Amino acid sequence: MAELEQRGDRAPAPSAWEYESAPESREIVKLEERYGLFIGGEFVQPRSGEYYETLDPSSEETLAEIPQAAPEDVAIAVKAAREAFTDGWSAATPAERAKYLFRIARILQERSREFAVLESLNGGKPIRESRDVDLPLAAAHFFYYAGWADKLEYAFPHRQPKPLGVAGQIIPWNFPLLMLAWKIAPALAAGNTVVLKPAETTPLSALLFCDVLRQAELPPGVVNIVTGDGATGAALVKAEVDKIAFTGSTEVGKAIQRELAGSCKKLTLELGGKAANIIFDDCALDQAVEGIVNGIYFNQGHVCCAGSRLLVQESIYEPLIEKLKRRLTTLRVGDPLDKNTDVGAINSRQQLEKIEELVAAGQEEGAEIYQPPCRLPEKGYWFAPTVFTNVAQSYRIAQEEIFGPVLSVLTFRTPDEAVEKANNTPYGLSAGVWTEKGSRILWMAQRLEAGVIWANTYNRFDPASPFGGYKESGFGREGGRHGLEPYLDFDGAEAFGG
Ligand code: ADP
Repeated sequence: MAELEQRGDRAPAPSAWEYESAPESREIVKLEERYGLFIGGEFVQPRSGEYYETLDPSSEETLAEIPQAAPEDVAIAVKAAREAFTDGWSAATPAERAKYLFRIARILQERSREFAVLESLNGGKPIRESRDVDLPLAAAHFFYYAGWADKLEYAFPHRQPKPLGVAGQIIPWNFPLLMLAWKIAPALAAGNTVVLKPAETTPLSALLFCDVLRQAELPPGVVNIVTGDGATGAALVKAEVDKIAFTGSTEVGKAIQRELAGSCKKLTLELGGKAANIIFDDCALDQAVEGIVNGIYFNQGHVCCAGSRLLVQESIYEPLIEKLKRRLTTLRVGDPLDKNTDVGAINSRQQLEKIEELVAAGQEEGAEIYQPPCRLPEKGYWFAPTVFTNVAQSYRIAQEEIFGPVLSVLTFRTPDEAVEKANNTPYGLSAGVWTEKGSRILWMAQRLEAGVIWANTYNRFDPASPFGGYKESGFGREGGRHGLEPYLDFDGAEAFGG
C-alpha cells in the first residue's frame, strides 16, 4: 500500500509505493551456447578460432560464446557482400528490394517480444524501454525505408542515384537492434549490400536478426554480420568496402577518419555528445521535470544525445531542483526484465568504471552530489541516478561525456547566456529547450550548435526525422530522406548535407 502524504492544499500524493516484482519471462528467448559469424546467409565458424563470452550485465551470468572475427574473416564477409551486390542485389528492381524490407519490418513486429527480452538480457536496459521504444522504432525504420526503396528518383530528382556497393557498418552497445536498423534499412533501400559489426558487449540481437533475414528470404550475402571487438571494427574499416558508417565514441571516430583520409571510401560518423537541456522560467515546470528525467535517465544515460547538462534559469533554480530530487526518489532501479523498472543495469564493468571515475572527479572538483536512496543489487553493474549541483563549466562532469545516469546542473540568467553555455562544448549533437514562448524556441534553435533540438520534449525519435551532429559529434545524417544520401552516388550533381 502507498503511504499518503498531505501537501498543503494540494491533493494527497503517494510518497512510497511498494511494487511487487513483475518480471517478463525469459522463456521466449532460445540462446545458442556458441554462435557463428553470419556470412553469405550461413552461420560459419571464424577462421580465427577465437571466441569470447557475452554477459547479462545485471547478473554477470554468461549468456553465450561469440566469435572474435579476424581480418581474414572480415575479408570473407566483404567478399560475400561484394558478390551479392554484383550478382543480383544491385540489379534487383527497387520494388523487389522494398519487398524484403517490408518483410523484415513485419517479422520484427511479430517477434518483438522475443527481441525485447533478448535486448534487455544482453544490454541491461529496462524491458519497458526495449519493448516500447527500441523494437517499435527498429521496425518503423524498416517500414520507412521500404517506402523509399522504389522512390529514389523522386527523392533525388535529376540526380540519377546509384548504390555505392558494399557498406561497412559499426555500431555501439546502447541501442543494439535500433542502431542496426538505422544502418541496414537505408543501406539496403539504396541498393547496397552490408557487412555490419555489432558492439562486443551486445551482439545477441544482431545474431537473432540473422534469423529474421533468413525468414524474410533475403538473398544470401546481402547482409553479413561479423562479431568481435574494436580490432574487428578496425579490420572492417581497412577492408575493401565502399563506405563506412560508424556510431560510437569520438575517439574511435577520429581514428577511423584518419584511417580513411585520402581513400575513396565514403564516411559518416555519429559520435558523442554533451547536450544542454535548457529550462526557462516560463516553462511548464512539472512537464520539464519529466523531460529532464527522460533526457538523462532513459537507458541509464547510455544515450549519445542525452540531456546531460541541465541549464536552469536562475529564478526557478530552487523549485525545479526540489521537484527533480523528489521525482528521482520514485525511480525504480533494478532487474531490467521487471516491467516496473525505470533504470536498469550499466552495460559493462568497463562502462561502470568510467562513470565512477568521472563522478569521483566531479566530487573532487567541488560539485555537490545527490542520489536518491535506493538499494542496488549485489551482483551485476549498477549506478544510482545522480544529480550534481554547484557545477562550474570547467569541471570534467560539465565537459566530458559520462554516458551514464549522471546529470550536471548549471544556471543562466538570460537567453544569450544560455546559448553561450550550451555551445561551450566540443560536441554538437542535440539540445532541449523548455519555454512557453514559440518565438524563443525559434530564436534559440537558430543559435544552438546542435544537429537535433527538441522543444518542450526530449529524446523523441522518428524514422522520418534526420539525426546527426556538428563539431566533434560527427557528420552525416541518419533517418529521413537525408539518411539515404550517404548510401548513394549521384551523377554529376552536387550532394546536399553531410
Ligand atoms: P564505446 O566507448 O561507447 O564503447 P566505441 O567507439 O569504443 O564506443 O565502440 C563503438 C563500436 O566501435 C563498437 O562496435 C566497437 O567494437 C567499435 N570499435 C572500437 N574500436 C574501434 C576501432 N579502432 N576501429 C573500428 N571500430 C572500433
